[in-house]
Amino acid sequence: MTVTPQAPQSNVPVQFDLLILDAIVLTADPVRPELRSGALGIRDGRISWLADSPPAHYQARRTLRLPGHFVTPGFVNPHVHSILSMVRGVAADLGFAPSYTPGIPKGTQVNPEQARALARLGAVEAMLFGSTVIGDNFVHADVTTEAMEELGVRLCPSWRLHDVDFAKVANGDWHFDAAIGAQTLRAGMDLQARWQGHPRVKVNLAAHAVDTCSEDFLRELAALAGAHDMVVSTHLGQSKVEVERVKARTGRTSTEVLEDVGLLNHRLMAGHCIYVTPSDIQRMAKAGAHAIHIPKCNAASGRMAPTPAIKRAGVNMALATDTQHGDMVELMRWTLATARVQTGGVDDEWQPHHVFHMATLGGAKALGMDHDIGSIALGKKADLVVFNANRPHLRPHVNPLGLLVHTAQGRDVEMVIVDGDIVVENALPTRVDMERVCLEAEKAARELWGAEGKRYWL
Ligand SMILES: [Zn+2]
Repeated sequence: MTVTPQAPQSNVPVQFDLLILDAIVLTADPVRPELRSGALGIRDGRISWLADSPPAHYQARRTLRLPGHFVTPGFVNPHVHSILSMVRGVAADLGFAPSYTPGIPKGTQVNPEQARALARLGAVEAMLFGSTVIGDNFVHADVTTEAMEELGVRLCPSWRLHDVDFAKVANGDWHFDAAIGAQTLRAGMDLQARWQGHPRVKVNLAAHAVDTCSEDFLRELAALAGAHDMVVSTHLGQSKVEVERVKARTGRTSTEVLEDVGLLNHRLMAGHCIYVTPSDIQRMAKAGAHAIHIPKCNAASGRMAPTPAIKRAGVNMALATDTQHGDMVELMRWTLATARVQTGGVDDEWQPHHVFHMATLGGAKALGMDHDIGSIALGKKADLVVFNANRPHLRPHVNPLGLLVHTAQGRDVEMVIVDGDIVVENALPTRVDMERVCLEAEKAARELWGAEGKRYWL
């Protein structure tokens, strides 16, 4: 969408709901990546002014003068399981993913009240650190979507869709049950119907993984995704367990199965992409599928996705925090550093602007929303993050983008704006009581850990 600034006619003041002045604006827009002392105006939830100075005559309901602050687009975090905030600090040291790891609470054990409390904690954390879009998928998506929507953050939720019996997977038993598949798909489409038309909620379909979904189930899901034009999230090449299971069951790679069932296309967001072959990568590139890179989860379990090859092939890449803490700023750093470990040095292919784009526009593109969000440009929705860069670790401002990627932290975020609404101010959520969110999640986690948890907190 293109909107030209309202012409600053002599005595007709330009109207703004919010006007940000004097900040360093990092746009993620290749046309003009940086404004050193920008004037950014918002009207009706969209960016209506972006220039070095405000119009000669204007009226703003609220004006923020932000010298020494960085303003960036909202970060797009498309692969999250907020409820799994309940296993952090433990699960990463036991196995590659909570759903496959014995000895920790499982999604199948969570009740709706616990789901609500834990999802809010995960989402509040991600939002406080600058995620304006959270692509969450897990159990109880009906109640967790309601709970997270109250925060004001933009959501792309889904139920965890599968036809395996997840209560048995952590014990090494992949038992498929068509009734489980039908029930999860029904819930997934009910969620879509419930939120259709909501300005900040766009429901996806999340096929858990090829090892936990039968081919019949995946075909059915592909048909629904096509008929309703829905984005499909999945875990792809996440583990050797998945690769071996799929090979034994189908004789193919997970990517080949996705291609055969009709899911390998521009609507697919493939999370992890660790165990993918060169042929898989070429298939993804040809199909226009998106790779959701999750470097911190991968590295914490001793693995790295072949991101240099994925990027070279032209696959769109986005970044996500998955079950780890929701700091997209730290994640940009991990992405850059791990890619350089793989390529063996510093080159033009892996620079701060590449990972900044992955964390913003790349995610927006994967979600089919890059026409509206992902960069700071006239006419786009006003999803913005304000960093306080007056702190010693973010000085001097020689190269603000370099500082953001190499030095900043999620905790430097002071303000988060979605659709022009301030949802985080002074580093606190504006719509919920953060203390209460933390306490309720703590209670839910302790219930779920039960006797097993006592060995950690006694
Ligand atoms: Zn995941």
